[in-house]
Amino acid sequence: LRVAVLRETVRSERRVALDPDGARRLKAAGLEVLVETGAGASAWFPDAGYAAQGARIVDRATAVAEAGLVLSVGQPDADVVDQLRPEQSCLGLLAPLTSPDLVRRLCRAKVTAISLDGLPRTLTRAQGMDALSSQASVAGYKAVLIAGEHYDRFFPLLMTAAGTSKPAAVLVLGAGVAGLQAIGTARRLGAVVSGYDVRPAAREEVKSLGAKFIELEAGIAAAGTGGYARELTADEREAQQRELAEHIARHDIVITTAQVPGRVPPLLVPADTVARMRPGSVLVDLAASALGGNVAGSRPGETLVTDNGVTVVGAANLPARMPTSASQALSRNISALVTHLVRDGELAIDLADEIQRGVVVTHGGEIVSTPVAAAVA
Ligand code: NAD
Repeated sequence: LRVAVLRETVRSERRVALDPDGARRLKAAGLEVLVETGAGASAWFPDAGYAAQGARIVDRATAVAEAGLVLSVGQPDADVVDQLRPEQSCLGLLAPLTSPDLVRRLCRAKVTAISLDGLPRTLTRAQGMDALSSQASVAGYKAVLIAGEHYDRFFPLLMTAAGTSKPAAVLVLGAGVAGLQAIGTARRLGAVVSGYDVRPAAREEVKSLGAKFIELEAGIAAAGTGGYARELTADEREAQQRELAEHIARHDIVITTAQVPGRVPPLLVPADTVARMRPGSVLVDLAASALGGNVAGSRPGETLVTDNGVTVVGAANLPARMPTSASQALSRNISALVTHLVRDGELAIDLADEIQRGVVVTHGGEIVSTPVAAAVA
């Protein structure tokens, strides 16, 4: 199998799907690796690093034409999709549940499309392939650094000849993979950190990182399936917003990460709560999306300062803003998955395998993923 790594063309996407170490791993598994010129440059992986691992550096047209499997971080570019032939495959974070047009095109072209988003995340043997977790972890870390950039005070308690600074009070709402990484990072910078989540299991995880867990009197417990949260009822949502407002107003920095699969992110910080925060406070909304986020008024990719002096950061694609570590982790996930899919040097699609059932979206002109087929229908 020839695996091709393309340069990402989406503006602001600085990651690459495979780093030189990933190229080494695929070579060791008996595969050939083609790398488009400059594919890793924006993540600080020069062509020479890939070549040193035995990859062939080629132009884009050659990479697409000669590849059996085309790797990308997100969705392949439209020009690549147009060129893919029936015997070819593509792999990336394809977001197939929300991209019916792409799925239909790949299906019509009889391309085998493999998406990391569908991986069964609770399966122990799939953990090394879990790109959603590895990228969420980068996002949680980076969110704290971004908060620090906008917070015009020290994080730690500092006692100097020029006086004593109080530690920053940081609140993390949503304690999944990104939230827990944000809690740990803020703690390491010396902040006093609290965490909150609707899944009861999150309580011990937050506490184990040395943060305080916020208990609401409303006692909302909203564990859903697969380790995710369920959507709250209107009454629960109202009670949550009301009680959280008291906590939010007392914190200097609030980082929000709450998501419910397949739903618009829940609103945790409405406008009247933002209005209660002190001047100089910072809100970083990792759930900011075109459809809405956890913070009223947050827009993906934009930073605004409210009339009462609160900085609201709509954090969009944070892993792309820390491309070296994010690509290294993604590359490990991708090389582990590709190695899992290969038998005797070729892709061996086998939908009896639980991992493959999760990740293979289209194959042989059919949408073989049950949830994707339902979403596209
Ligand atoms: P996610 O991105 O879907 O959501 C982030 C967090 O927001 C979750 O913790 C969720 O409970 C929380 N949330 C949702 N609605 C909320 C609300 N109204 N108020 C407050 N918080 C709210 O989640 P994720 O980070 O992808 O992880 C979800 C779960 O999957 C976690 O339990 C994680 O530990 C688990 N997981 C398990 C494995 C594994 O077992 N190997 C791997 C990855 C993730």
